[in-house]
Amino acid sequence: MPELPEIQAHAERLDVAFADASLEQFTPLAFTALKTAAPPADAANGHQLVFVGRRGKHLLLDFGVVTFVVHLMQGGRVLVDEKQSAKPRNGQARWRFSDGRALLLTEAGTERKAGVWVVAGDPEEQTPLAELGPDADTLDADGLGALLAEHPMRLHGFLREQRILAGLGRRLANEVCHRAQLSPFANTAKLDRDDTKSLVEAIQVCVNEGLAFERGLAQMSSSADRPGHVHHRVGEPCAVCGDEIRSVEYVRYTVAYCPTCQTGGKILADNTTSKFLK
Ligand SMILES: [Zn+2]
Repeated sequence: MPELPEIQAHAERLDVAFADASLEQFTPLAFTALKTAAPPADAANGHQLVFVGRRGKHLLLDFGVVTFVVHLMQGGRVLVDEKQSAKPRNGQARWRFSDGRALLLTEAGTERKAGVWVVAGDPEEQTPLAELGPDADTLDADGLGALLAEHPMRLHGFLREQRILAGLGRRLANEVCHRAQLSPFANTAKLDRDDTKSLVEAIQVCVNEGLAFERGLAQMSSSADRPGHVHHRVGEPCAVCGDEIRSVEYVRYTVAYCPTCQTGGKILADNTTSKFLK
């Protein structure tokens, strides 16, 4: 799943290419694509794209009168639509501009969870952005410390919970825990001030590393190419200490970690949640 760095760099690319272009028509291509009934998407017709931005893992296409809030979920992408065919493969929605160009929301796979919300007024105050916590990379030790104390749970799950802090997903949760030298199963309510400071620094470093990588590309990277020490590196030696990167497997994701760096050598086993249930 694209996370904060990938979405941010993609928003910047789209902004450079499409800002100031006038919208001719937004068209949902799948009935699941448009998540809102009012205001109508047609309200943006004839208006210029003011900017393309990001909040959490959402892309924002701001046309002044309305903003399109796009969630890519797992397999969604917003791509320049070269062909503009009537039934594009995996096509979910299309923005066609007066200059003849178009953007296409595609979603690979069968989940059909990617979607577009059309909102008027401040997007921050409305679904889906109103439900998000602050962007993870904007938090200092006081801010993160308060959230950790408020939400006693496993650290890995905390980092991925968009309603607590936004922008991180499975990959960055793995990388942040490794960088901070904390167990992914650490109880958030038991972390001390030094742990919190390590987490703030780890979030900054991991997000910036991802941004630097992603900004050097012409298109959004695929998951396996993204930089990191533990994600997609299970079975390989840890770049920091040489120990073997281990994992706890769930149906939908893998928690990857280094025992020496993060758990005092302890091998983690998930004994609270059956992988068949989650
Ligand atoms: Zn290590």
